[in-house]
Amino acid sequence: MSISRRSFLAGLALSATPALSQQRATLASWTPGTLDIHHISTGRGNCTLCILPDATSFMIDAGALMPTGDDVQYQITPFPDSSRRPGEWLGRYAKRHLAHANRNEIDHFLLTHFHSDHMGQFVPGLPRSKQGTHHLTGFADVAELMPMGRIVDRGFPNYDYPTPINDPSTNNYRECAKALARTGTKLEAFRVGTTSQFTLLRKPADFPNFEVRNIVANGELWTGIGDNTRKCFPELATLKASQYPTENMCSTGIRIRYGAFDYFSAGDLPDGSSYGVPAWRDMETAATQIAGPVDVALASHHGYIDSTGPAVVRALRPRAFIIHAWDSAHPTMPALHNMLSQDLYPGPRDIFATAMKPEAKITIRRLSQLKSDNGHVLVRVAPGGASYQIHIITNRDESDRLTASFGPYTST
Ligand SMILES: [Zn+2]
Repeated sequence: MSISRRSFLAGLALSATPALSQQRATLASWTPGTLDIHHISTGRGNCTLCILPDATSFMIDAGALMPTGDDVQYQITPFPDSSRRPGEWLGRYAKRHLAHANRNEIDHFLLTHFHSDHMGQFVPGLPRSKQGTHHLTGFADVAELMPMGRIVDRGFPNYDYPTPINDPSTNNYRECAKALARTGTKLEAFRVGTTSQFTLLRKPADFPNFEVRNIVANGELWTGIGDNTRKCFPELATLKASQYPTENMCSTGIRIRYGAFDYFSAGDLPDGSSYGVPAWRDMETAATQIAGPVDVALASHHGYIDSTGPAVVRALRPRAFIIHAWDSAHPTMPALHNMLSQDLYPGPRDIFATAMKPEAKITIRRLSQLKSDNGHVLVRVAPGGASYQIHIITNRDESDRLTASFGPYTST
């Protein structure tokens, strides 16, 4: 692909970056043995596409907030633009990048929790799916474009913890999952503690040092020993309804390990930093103390004010933080301050956001310290896991042009 020098330089100007040669401005294709973790930037919700070392595909969330009401003024403008729904852009991105691995299917899909910015928002007027059973948004848009092997969430099969989950967006997701199940897609509940749910499906024997560990869901936490777990939330019978765990607190979390490389992702798990709340409401600290330290961490709850607290940052101590942003408060000042703090852990660290509301940079001057604040963020782990690079891919169009590259970093 050829690009003009002018557009190339415009891309470089987006971030403080080491010089990229023009020859490297196109992303090299995934190759066998490589672990790619794409944080896809639509500005409208979370979606992470992993291409595992044997070409097994694993997507975490497929969020899509639709433009409605007064919230729009606080939200990031859609990328590449609003000519398609965010979920369509996600599906098209996944198709393009999976094609490099000769794949056209999502083998594993994990929904971290039942919020629209992770599964797709239902609003009136959305088109119907091919099956006619549900509407197209977020996850459903991705599923319309490519087959799904397995869908895992925190609620299957009853969707009733801590209370029945039946808002319009969740119902639409469930209708989509049910429609897919009729043609062979497997639906499963997330199993905490195991490494046997998100496995390599193609050549597992070739990569014995790769695993996905299920860390947390619904207040159940891996203990760090074998596949054992413990329950952190009190029995619901001992709580008033107003004290029940929130949806965010029930988020699923995983750790991906490839040799020396570790990556943590846990949806919108909060650290319960409201003053005086019981310790069990701080699932983020508990989960990160079991999962960390890691090389790369996705900031939980988009780096919002109730996440990424001091104990979390101390436990994870990553070389790189990634923020999936869609709101003017992603991240908040306290969360960013913690991520940058040399008191919480020593040494350099790089922070990347998938997008940024321009006004946020006026309010929070330290956002200028981010390595990149706009674009798809690809963590590319070398075969065997000993090192990795972080690439920024333009979100302005579907050219997959590289705008910056960082690293290589040594996995620790
Ligand atoms: Zn969220």
